[in-house]
Amino acid sequence: MADNQIKKPRGTTDYFGKEEEVLAGLEEVLMDESRLYGCQRVNPPVFEESRLFHRSVGESSDIVRKETFDLQRKGDKDYTLRPEFTAGVNRLVLENKLYASPDLPLRYAYMGKVFRYERPQSGRLREFYQFGVEFLDRKVDLDCALDALLLSVNAVKKALGKPVKVLVNYLGSFQSRENYKKALAEYFRPHLSEMCDDCKNRFETNPLRILDCKVEKDREIAKGAPRIEDYLSDDDKAEYGAIISLLESLRIPYVKDDGLVRGLDYYTGLVWEIYDLENPDFPALGGGGKYASLMSDIGGPDFEGIGFSLGVERLILDMPHERVEAIRKIAKVDVFLIDLERKGKGCAIAERLRDLGMSVSMPSFGKGMGGCFKMADRIQAENVLILFEDGHLEIKDMKTREQKIIDEEGLVALFGR
Ligand code: AMP
Repeated sequence: MADNQIKKPRGTTDYFGKEEEVLAGLEEVLMDESRLYGCQRVNPPVFEESRLFHRSVGESSDIVRKETFDLQRKGDKDYTLRPEFTAGVNRLVLENKLYASPDLPLRYAYMGKVFRYERPQSGRLREFYQFGVEFLDRKVDLDCALDALLLSVNAVKKALGKPVKVLVNYLGSFQSRENYKKALAEYFRPHLSEMCDDCKNRFETNPLRILDCKVEKDREIAKGAPRIEDYLSDDDKAEYGAIISLLESLRIPYVKDDGLVRGLDYYTGLVWEIYDLENPDFPALGGGGKYASLMSDIGGPDFEGIGFSLGVERLILDMPHERVEAIRKIAKVDVFLIDLERKGKGCAIAERLRDLGMSVSMPSFGKGMGGCFKMADRIQAENVLILFEDGHLEIKDMKTREQKIIDEEGLVALFGR
């Protein structure tokens, strides 16, 4: 390949062939699972006004501080490629007044690409797919929260065909979280000069996020920090207890982790991450949480939400080989039509078969008969239909290898079931 050959950008994926088939199969599994929980699909735009993400995802999150793909300004507005879906789905609900629906909670599912300017490595891309849901209501009650949590667990289990582990934490209602943030700030203030620059920033914007820091020295300091559980109200404790009881009664493996705060600023109440139980070193497959002020922050009514997103490429990377094969959605060819007459009649016959719902493909004219049959085998065509030079047709069932003469009416009778 020449040095100046144009290549795909780093951290992106070219989906074709098997990878595309696996992606399509996985999308179906995930969307089917979301339907079991009453979700409807939504599809917001790939780019939004930049201020949507700054307001909702939060200024202190890494995503907004360093990882957004901001588009070059063309008109009077700044736009950003979506780094996640939650903000876009909330904007969609607000703009289309879906919050006014009498049928609450709203239950929406999505799957599409998101964009983050991260350092590419295995399982960490700059353009990747997320599948997820958002449940929205005036008040997200316990059942709604549990449904979101269970859907996330079952979606991963179904996708991978193996058990998962959930890391859970409870960040408390707005007031308990604010009290906790104050306590954290008091604890970290005297250590600040020894901490990393990111943490110095987090201290100013959201001290909770310091607990998320991966720098060894900062993690050591964080070990002595106050614990969220000591700041939860009685209502918070009761809800957290109910969530844990459900996980236990359904025998879902879980670990309580009070250092789990998740990367975004808007979470309150339950937050969680999902890991492969048998492969605990594999990075998080997905995560989610409850939020209270996102909708009002972007100018909407007082609404709460709970949602999660799964990293689709990570699911595929962690999927056992047999599962990958089982999930693939191979677009099979019903009829492979070899047109030896070469007068265009083949296309007319193909159209007739397509009208009957059959998928029909054809080789290029230049191929010999042997080459055509090899191609039919490779693409796993069910039948080969040959239009001979003299205009007669023969059909070969590629499973039984039986070949017989047939006319167009015979084809309609055969495939028009
Ligand atoms: P987040 O929106 O950051 O909570 O991420 C949700 C899920 O998306 C994670 O658990 C990962 O599975 C996946 N994910 C996050 N960042 C990346 C990335 N850069 N590349 C691939 N997958 C990612």
